[in-house]
Amino acid sequence: PPEQLPLDPTKKTLVILGSGWGSVSLLKKLDTEDYNVIVISPRNFFLFTPLLPSCTTGTIEHRSIMEPLRHIIRHKKRAVKYYEAEATKIDVDRRVVKINDFSDVKGNVSETEVPFDYLVVGVGAENATFGIPGVRENACFLKEIGDAQQIRKKVMDCIETATFKDQTEEEKDRLLHMVVVGGGPTGIEFAAELQDFFEEDLRKWVPDITDRFKVTLVEALPNVLPMFSKALIDYTEKTFKDENISVRTKTMVKKVTDKSIEVEATQPDGSKVKESINYGLLVWATGNAVRGVVRDLMSQVPAQKNSRRGLAVNDYLVVDGTDGIWALGDCSATKYAPTAQVASQQGNFLARLFNSMAKTQAVEEELRSLDARLQASTDEAEKTLLTAEINAKGRSLSKVKQLSPFQYSHQGSLAYIGADRAVADLNWFGGAISSATGGELTYLFWRSAYVSMVFSLRNRILVLTDWLKTKAFGRDVSRE
Ligand code: FAD
Ligand code: NAD
Repeated sequence: PPEQLPLDPTKKTLVILGSGWGSVSLLKKLDTEDYNVIVISPRNFFLFTPLLPSCTTGTIEHRSIMEPLRHIIRHKKRAVKYYEAEATKIDVDRRVVKINDFSDVKGNVSETEVPFDYLVVGVGAENATFGIPGVRENACFLKEIGDAQQIRKKVMDCIETATFKDQTEEEKDRLLHMVVVGGGPTGIEFAAELQDFFEEDLRKWVPDITDRFKVTLVEALPNVLPMFSKALIDYTEKTFKDENISVRTKTMVKKVTDKSIEVEATQPDGSKVKESINYGLLVWATGNAVRGVVRDLMSQVPAQKNSRRGLAVNDYLVVDGTDGIWALGDCSATKYAPTAQVASQQGNFLARLFNSMAKTQAVEEELRSLDARLQASTDEAEKTLLTAEINAKGRSLSKVKQLSPFQYSHQGSLAYIGADRAVADLNWFGGAISSATGGELTYLFWRSAYVSMVFSLRNRILVLTDWLKTKAFGRDVSRE
């Protein structure tokens, strides 16, 4: 990487919280020459979440979808500071972020403060549990690399324990029952990957589990994947049926214990029936909830009083009721779904906004100095020249300032549904062409779309190699 400019005390400090889709898209396009940029995140890498479900079974190795933040910031013009820490409080009045450093191997936590001129909040969301008892203690989530690793280990653990000496029949059935709660894309893609793992590898290497291994998906609403068209919902439900994944719609989980979930199922006549379902592995994928640090920020700003899903922002992503604080991605509440597509477009938008703000400030500075020269000048010829220059600069300033508000352009929705099939609701050329497809060709499209979206060439090659390895040798069934 080239030599970088050092931090410049005359420049404004821009603090960016998070290293996910929103913050990293901003960082990639931001001209860091204009700011002293500090990135704060407990995760020193970017995670390509669309392929995270594939890591739970080892179709893809987890490091293939991680991109070190250091690779990204080392290529910026001006040095960017990175602190591996979690923001615990954003003090709006004092304009500082309180951060906790958890990286100490001995487990000591040290707290410090980072002042900012501008702040971008891109901390994402946490897993929703709706306060349902037992979820946090007993279920696995699927949001971070550690979650995928835990699931991978747990699946093999269940299998090895089920096949252990003198295991009872009932216990074997329980351990080999993999239950997924939530029929959104996360739950669907995970259930699909897990069933693929069973069909393509586990069945072969552990034949004793063939008749018992079972994946069940539980969804409270009448159907799965509500963001897809009716035809694709039907296609997904039919494919799941063919793959022997049992889908329990209109079934709401009410309580979780270490070995079972208690559900309330709505019958066709509208009556409700309570039931207990035993599980070996429970994966909880019921969407997003607001993080503590965001809730605390909202509580400091009266304009955020009525916002529930996250930080309310204006058309330029400025946090309502604040000055110099922006929010993007899953921690903000907009009319758009909390997706990577939205977060990355917002990141690109904020990069344009910050780049143009810096240009505006530079032109305004020049205008001030030209104006001072004009006031001081007594030479008519010089005055005419200066006036012309001021007018030209004024015109370029109004051009730079004309940044239109954020507008999301929806490219479509894609989801993997197992057995080499995917569903896609595509929206091209601003909606002029839209199509809903499902099947093997869509799966090839899904693969190529994701590979092209993976940020770096290095990661692209790693993902492709993993796919080839899985095709050639199957997935690894060892328990790490
Ligand atoms: P994130 O990407 O979650 O990043 C948040 C960042 O903030 C992380 O770096 C985190 O470490 C950091 N952070 C957390 N707390 C703090 C703190 N207190 N202080 C500082 N930093 C903090 N969307 C799609 O469009 N297409 C898909 O195919 C798709 N697949 C998905 C698959 C899975 C399994 C999951 C879980 C999500 C998927 N999504 C997909 C949704 C997408 O990942 C999110 O919408 C997207 O990650 C949101 O980006 P973000 O930058 O807001 O948050
Ligand atoms: P989601 O919010 O999309 O779906 C959660 C599902 O859980 C809902 O259908 C809800 O009805 C159900 N649910 C909630 N409580 C329940 C209960 N007690 N019992 C049974 N079911 C319950 O969540 P997600 O799938 O994690 O997705 C989060 C966001 O990430 C979404 O915006 C999604 O579009 C995006 N995402 C996209 C992709 C993709 O495009 N391929 C993949 C994963 C995630």
